[in-house]
Formats: sequence, C-alpha cells, structure tokens
Amino acid sequence: MTGRTKTSDKFAIIDELARRRGFFWQSYEMYGGVSGFATYGPLGAKLKQNIENKLRELFVSKLGILEIESPIIAPSKVFEASGHVDHFKEAMVECLKCKKRFRADHLLREFAKMTEAEAEKLSLKEMKVTIKKHNIKCPECGGAFSEPKLFLTMFKTTIGPYSGAVGYGRPEAAQGIFVEFRRLYEMAREKLPFGVLQIGHALRNEISPRQGLIRLREFTIVDLEFFFDPEEPDCFLLKDVENEKLRLLLAETKLRDSEEITEVTVKEALKRGLIKAEWQAVFMAYAKKLLTDLGVPAEKQRFIEKLPWERAHYSLQSFDQEVYVERWGWVEVSGHAYRTDYDLKQHMKFSGEDLQVYKEYTKPVEKEQLVIKPVMAKIGPTFKAEAAKVGEMLSKAEPEKIEASLKKNKYYMLGKYKILPEHVMITRQKVVERGKRFIPHVVEPSFGSDRLVYVALEYAYHVKDDRAVLSFPRDIAPIQVGVYPLVSKDGLPQKALEVYNMLLDEGFAVEYDEAGSIGRRYARADEIGAALGVTVDYETLKNDTVTIRDRDSWKQVRTKIENLPELLHKYFKKKINFEDLGKPF
Ligand code: AMP
Repeated sequence: MTGRTKTSDKFAIIDELARRRGFFWQSYEMYGGVSGFATYGPLGAKLKQNIENKLRELFVSKLGILEIESPIIAPSKVFEASGHVDHFKEAMVECLKCKKRFRADHLLREFAKMTEAEAEKLSLKEMKVTIKKHNIKCPECGGAFSEPKLFLTMFKTTIGPYSGAVGYGRPEAAQGIFVEFRRLYEMAREKLPFGVLQIGHALRNEISPRQGLIRLREFTIVDLEFFFDPEEPDCFLLKDVENEKLRLLLAETKLRDSEEITEVTVKEALKRGLIKAEWQAVFMAYAKKLLTDLGVPAEKQRFIEKLPWERAHYSLQSFDQEVYVERWGWVEVSGHAYRTDYDLKQHMKFSGEDLQVYKEYTKPVEKEQLVIKPVMAKIGPTFKAEAAKVGEMLSKAEPEKIEASLKKNKYYMLGKYKILPEHVMITRQKVVERGKRFIPHVVEPSFGSDRLVYVALEYAYHVKDDRAVLSFPRDIAPIQVGVYPLVSKDGLPQKALEVYNMLLDEGFAVEYDEAGSIGRRYARADEIGAALGVTVDYETLKNDTVTIRDRDSWKQVRTKIENLPELLHKYFKKKINFEDLGKPF
C-alpha cells in the first residue's frame, strides 16, 4: 500500500479492510453471496448507528420532531392508495442468451451515453428503438435483449396463509407515518407545523444491484415527513439557515444539457422561486450541514432538481442531494420532495377517514357566502313528480358552479336536470369564519444510511506512511478511545484495565488492546478509525497521568487520569480540540 496506489486498487483495499475489520460485507457469502444485501459487522453497525444518531440529534433533539417505528410489511391497500402499486416500477430487459436482467435506463446511460433525464423520459417503445440503434448487447455474454418491460420493484408477499391477503415490503418508511397521521397529529397537540421521523429498513427489489452499499435490496431509510399549512408555513427555522449557501443544479439548466451550478443562499433560492417550499429549503440546508459534518466538503456536494418526468408520482418539486465519491462519481444520498397533500388525500380517499385538520384563525374572518335557494314555484311545474328531488339536489350542489354556468350558458346541468335561471334565487350573505379545515402539506427529506456509511468511509480513508488510516469525524468514529498498556508486564495491564473500565462506565465506545508492540496497536487502531489512544506507561504508575494520542496528527499530550472523563466528553461533543486535552486543568 503506497501513496501512489492506483484508484482501482484503492477501492479493493477499502473493500478488503471493510470485510477484514468487520465494517460490512456481502451477505450470505457461504452460499455464494447475494447481490443487494449487506451485513454490518460490529464496527460497521456502530458507525451506522452513530450516523443515524447524528440525524436524530439534528432532527429529533433539536427540532422536537417525533420519532416512530412502524411495520415493514403493509397490506396492499396502503400501497395502492400511495400509488406505489401503479408507479414503483422500472423498465427491464432480459438477455435472450444468458437470461440475465438489466435496468434499461442504466444500459442506455452506459452504452448510449444518455443522461439520467434523457433515459428516464423514454417510453418502453423508444427504449427498444434506442437499444437497437446503439446495438446494445448483454454486457455479460454479448447476447441480444428482449423487449423492455416494466418490473414492480416492491417485494410482494401474503399476510398469513391467505393468498388473497396481499402485502408488500415497504419501499419507504413514509407511508407508515401517513397512515398514522390522525394519532400523530394528536400527539403533536393538534398544532402545525410538526414533523415525524422514522428510521428503519426499506425493501426495493432492485433489478441488478452492483454498487455495494450504494444500491441494496434491503437498506435503511431515514424518512422525515414534515407537515405544515401551505398558506401559513410558519417556517421558524428559516432565520437560522437563510444565509447558508446551496449549490443547485436546476432543472432548466439540465434541459440545456449543462451541469452548471447555481450557487445561492437559502434566502435567495426562495425569493427567486427556485425552491418552492420554505421548509424544503431549510431541510436542504440541514442536509448540507450533515454531509459536511460527515467529512464531505461543500464543493463535493450539490442538489439536483428533478425534471417533471423524473420526479416520483407524489412530488411537486424534488431535489436529490448528491455527493461526489471517487469510486462511483456523483451519488444521491438524500431526496427532498415536496409531497404536497398527495399522500394524505389518497389515504383519505382509500380509507374513508377524514385526515383534514382544523385551524382556528387568530382573528375571525368575515366572508361573503354565495347561497342558492330553489324556487319551488317554478321547479314544481317544470319537474313535476321529481320537483322535490331536484330541490334537494340543488341545496347540496356547489353554488359557485351553478352561478358560473347560469351566467355563461343560461342553464346548469344538475345531473340529468336542466336548471334555468328562473329555478333558483342567488343571494350573497355575510358569514363569520372562525377557522378553516384543510389537509396539511408535506415536505420530505429522505436519507439512506447505507450510502452515508459508504460516503463517510471513502472520505475517511487515506494512507499515511504506507498505512491505512480511517479519519472519521470524531463524533461518528465507531471506537472513540483505544486503551493500551505500553508493555504487558510490570502492572501496566492492570492499570490500563482500570482506565478502560472507568471509560466504559462513562459511556464511551472503548477498546482494550495489549497484543503486540505499541506501534502495531496504534496502526490497528488507526485502521479502524479509533479517534484517540490512551496509553498507560511507567510514568502512570508514578503520577497517575496517561498519554493521549490523536489518530490524525499522531501527536501526543499528557493528562491526569481523573480528568479524562470530563475532557473526553467535551472533546467528543466538539467543545474542545485535541491540544486542550493536555492543558493544565
Ligand atoms: P428515494 O425515495 O428513491 O429518493 O430514496 C431515498 C434515499 O434512500 C436515497 O437518497 C438514497 O440515499 C436511499 N436509497 C434509495 N434506494 C436505495 C438502495 N437501493 N440502496 C441503498 N440506498 C438507497
């Protein structure tokens, strides 16, 4: 391993390190492995939890967002209502020779050099023509392809032993939030805005996943559904982030075949209408902060606006947050969708439950209301036996529609009955409204934890003096402190174990290691990204001090054992720097 390592070797080394040191690997290896499934070992699981806890810290602790956990399987009705049964599909082709199946848009991007936007716009027929025109053949065996057809990427199952009770594995955690909206709204004390977060497994039966943690069939999704009144969003966090700069690749720029970035502050993006919902802009700024904290510099991040045909069926405006990774290029790490009232409306329609909220105005509002009164003296002779029915129907009809039609056509069709101006009396009366009933709107930031793990790992990996070091930001390092006796004799291991137990007690993620030379132990610790090393040496026995070693600079400072807990708590909360650990207390 040298500083001149080829990039392809670099990724092989990262994969090998991830497997050997227990970060992650492909699942079911003993049966040959299955693409799209990953198992996290102890270090990887901890790293992933730490990243998820950062999201919790950002949204749950600081913004008071509610966190829930709902099932992974849902009855078919839920995904019929949400539109996934109809829309959660990808175009696929099959090699007629080796029978391998591929996503048609991925082949078009790779072999016809199309952009994502161009490939996604094509109909099945156009895909067939383009595959033929570019003579695209199976990348595995050179065989010809079948016609493209749509494949539903949700996992289908039955609930219990009833073949009719169809269920699906959730492709997103969002629906588990929408279907509980009524109860959650009560828990939020019936006040808007409020948000609900869910972190959990999602299932997507991806057609041919070949990018490790980036494209899994079972992955962890972090969905935040934020509910607000579109007329009064009350975006109280805007002030905090309005000067934060966002790098946007706008839909209109993409249409010009350009990747030019529009760099604007949150405030400017809203003023120019580049981002439609204030809350969406706020969460995009938070997402940028998260990725920056995970080690990705601002210039390696961007938000790509989706074109109308690239957007999910529920979205009015969507941005994908992408970060640049050396291995795969630009990778989406979070999606930001303005889902409007689409989901709640659909669940209202399919379940019959009223999901509207009532909001009292701060001041009652006086409004003019249109009233249509049936004139029975005229309705009677015209509709005879059906006159009463027509009168009743009229009192339930929409007054605005009747008035407009009578004005324009001089009649209004009330079902099969032709209503003429003489049949109704139109008046206007003043009413006082104390509040309004409406379906809240939703913006959704949605992150994939596994992709964040990969990104954090690639950005953390570097080679120093021919050795691999994982320089994770200190608050996500899977091991915070390694504790080492300088040598394993003369009472040093006993003393080191005392320090180890004290730090464990304090809640730190600690590891104890006395195997091999101290240099080798430091190297092993650097390779797994342990942020600090605490070494017990002969001086410790004399004055109860230890050395603390920094993983990144390899610098060392000395401090008293009794001060360690407080200093380390401050250090991992990023309140002090490494040098402060050695300052007199
Ligand atoms: P989407 O609902 O497609 O916008 O996905 C939300 C987030 O989930 C994305 O930004 C990714 O970070 C993550 N994600 C989506 N699909 C996968 C997958 N197959 N494997 C891993 N992560 C994924």
